[in-house]
Amino acid sequence: MNYNNSHALFERARRSIPGGVNSPVRAFKSVGIDPLFLTHSEGAYVWDADGNRFIDYVGSWGPLILGHSHPKVIEAIIKQASIATSFGAPTELEIELAELVISIMPSIEMLRMVSSGTEATMSAIRLARGYTGREKIIKFEGCYHGHGDSFLIKAGSGALTLGSPNSPGVTVGTAKDTLNARYNDLVSVENLISANRGEIAAIIVEPIAGNVGVVPPKPGFLQGLRQICDREKIVLIFDEVMTGFRVALGGAQELYGVRPDLTTLGKIIGGGLPVGAFGGKREIMEMLSPIGPVYQAGTLSGNPLAMAAGLATLRTLRDENPYAELERKSAYLENCIAENIRSANIKATQTRVGSMLCLFFTDQEVTDYESAITSDTKAFAKYFRAMLEDGIYLAPSQFEAMFVSAAHSDEDLERTVKANRKSLTEVTGLHQ
Ligand SMILES: *Cc1c(COP(=O)(O)O)cnc(C)c1O
Repeated sequence: MNYNNSHALFERARRSIPGGVNSPVRAFKSVGIDPLFLTHSEGAYVWDADGNRFIDYVGSWGPLILGHSHPKVIEAIIKQASIATSFGAPTELEIELAELVISIMPSIEMLRMVSSGTEATMSAIRLARGYTGREKIIKFEGCYHGHGDSFLIKAGSGALTLGSPNSPGVTVGTAKDTLNARYNDLVSVENLISANRGEIAAIIVEPIAGNVGVVPPKPGFLQGLRQICDREKIVLIFDEVMTGFRVALGGAQELYGVRPDLTTLGKIIGGGLPVGAFGGKREIMEMLSPIGPVYQAGTLSGNPLAMAAGLATLRTLRDENPYAELERKSAYLENCIAENIRSANIKATQTRVGSMLCLFFTDQEVTDYESAITSDTKAFAKYFRAMLEDGIYLAPSQFEAMFVSAAHSDEDLERTVKANRKSLTEVTGLHQ
């Protein structure tokens, strides 16, 4: 394939934008090539600036579970844009989206909208601290909760892909209030709690870790966190920015039957426009300004265009219930890729929950950060480039999920399996 126009755009972008991108993983650094500049999309496909078409498994990093440019979402955005784009005043759309989310997730009694997942998690932590009067939080190694200072300690996603576990610019004071436990390891949580008794405001967890590849929770892990939080009066926060409306309509909390105190949302809730939200128990949420003392605000929070896109997406998910189909298609991909791994005789393993998949280039079982980073990232880079050449657009990192959308057809999946077979064979020479 020819990527000349993308290359020229990247050269130009690097002069005015740091690294040429507005979010680091987009730069393709870890896969050793220049990023593609995309121009348009439809359903399961995206096109780049050179006119190449790809089957897309990034889906804007999760939001586009219905596929690109879904007619109902586009119609809702156009209709709203012709009426008004922003007021900074309350609108009925915000109530409609809040009521819809509350009807979908029983743990959420009240909800506040923000404009990104990062804002949702930052605000949820502040709220938990204000509510408990405690300062420390526990997170898990490899979990990513956006780029707020408190979370950039052994974080996943770009921080892991680009090898910066702890970012300069985060003060020692902030870092000391973030304690890191090991994912899927309740003993590591108990140890931190014994050493900091009465000081932990919140435990924040991705109920399915999706930013270190895909790491499902072991049976009992989330239930164990719930019990610990009840016993120690700690606020349990499920960061469902990725998993909410993705692994089930009601997210991972529906799938595993565990109720957090607070939930953070993003990605799908905005249907491709910038939306985040955090919500949960009324008693905690009523600590928020203007009825409570914990301050939180946003000029574009609850933006009408974003609300319209989110409402159209969530209503379509509720009414069309694509989850059984997503499961069927994703299981098909997983099974075919497993067969390709066997026939290529390659050291690789897969994880999957619903339409979140990951192919790790390691022969170890992946259950946490330590096991995820045994992956051969050079092999991944080669695999990524081979898939791209075959018209398959994956997230450019070993430590990101592959998302199946409602728009992927059986034919798209077959083409993907074929490309996977060929690409794995190309990797074999390097990695055995
Ligand atoms: C993407 C993500 C975030 C950050 O959301 P942004 O909208 O990128 O700020 C937070 N938590 C999780 C689990 C995510 O996947």
